[in-house]
Amino acid sequence: MEKIQSVAVLTSGGDSPGMNACIRAVTRTAIFNGMKVFGVYRGYEGLVNGELKEFTTEMVSNTIQRGGTILKTARCQSFMTPEGRQKAYENLQKFNIQTLIVIGGNGSLSGAYQLAREYDMPVIGIPGTIDNDITATDNTIGFDTAMQTVVENVDRLRDTCESHARCNVVEVMGRGAGDIALNTAIACGAVAAAIPEVDFDEDACIERIVRLRRGGKRNFIVIVSEGVSGHSEELAKKINDYTKDLAEKENNDRLWVETKFCRLAHTVRGGSPTLGDRLLATRMGVRAVDELLAGNSDLVICEKAGKIVTVPIAYSQVLDRMYKGTLKDGMLDKYSKEEIEQMKLLIEEKKNDFRTTYAMMEQISG
Ligand code: ATP
Repeated sequence: MEKIQSVAVLTSGGDSPGMNACIRAVTRTAIFNGMKVFGVYRGYEGLVNGELKEFTTEMVSNTIQRGGTILKTARCQSFMTPEGRQKAYENLQKFNIQTLIVIGGNGSLSGAYQLAREYDMPVIGIPGTIDNDITATDNTIGFDTAMQTVVENVDRLRDTCESHARCNVVEVMGRGAGDIALNTAIACGAVAAAIPEVDFDEDACIERIVRLRRGGKRNFIVIVSEGVSGHSEELAKKINDYTKDLAEKENNDRLWVETKFCRLAHTVRGGSPTLGDRLLATRMGVRAVDELLAGNSDLVICEKAGKIVTVPIAYSQVLDRMYKGTLKDGMLDKYSKEEIEQMKLLIEEKKNDFRTTYAMMEQISG
């Protein structure tokens, strides 16, 4: 087998803290192993338009602690077409690039897989998204930092809630996944959380707030995942109006829990990555280059039970679809009965984890 001489690296889709640590690890591991490294700017958009630059060890210096992505990122419509991918491949050839590492979310990994299939090009995907919505891995790059940022912000809200005897309903990112919301609800001592994976009992949430307020509690935090529609601003209004009516009915001002709404949104995408994300990004970046050097391709680097492992990109995509219930006819054809059973088991375990963690959160919420 001929030794791989060159690799390109890009970040694609939504940015996430830790992407720079990953670019740095890829760059330095590749150079250490005698390879040329090319940074591709603005994700697939830059690949289609030829925005590539050779990277040196020094160029990634002073980046491990920085949020965002030094390579910038984009969503690229033309890469979704065969013509766009053809242009992307031609640009890689122009620079004599043999392999590609893509850091991004599910969509970005699909793009990498398409290119690998159509041009027989070795590619490796690294899960970089704050949402933690890639089923094959326990953690994605940026997830830990996003949670930390939510916790820091909610702690501030809680201080002011305590002063005024208020409630704050906080909507957090996560797309269709409740990972950020559930974990931060536990870590922030929220009274309730609404996530897409578990039915939300709005009445029970309001009853709990009233009961706790009667007992003298002054601060109330409710975390809502953006994946749950109709439960953020509306919920804040409901808690506010219900407790206000109750206060009037019972002629007891103290029962009114004035409720504000806050959407943390993109603020949790930025900032300096946590230690956890720097380590994860570094371990994944190094492993990606090692896999290419070993002659492997079409893999996603994952973390399972604290270990860095790999799964085929195609498997990761199918697993995600199975988890989200969006499988199409024929997608499971190439998998054995045992493999399908294994996937189902994994998904059931993940769903169970959500249910038991949610139950635990409710149990300790007061
Ligand atoms: P995030 O989870 O942060 O949104 P993502 O990687 O899932 O990240 P997407 O917008 O879904 O974000 O995908 C990023 C880019 O990957 C797209 O703009 C497109 O260029 C490419 N891409 C996505 N899906 C495909 C596909 N099926 N085939 C080819 N390219 C794709």
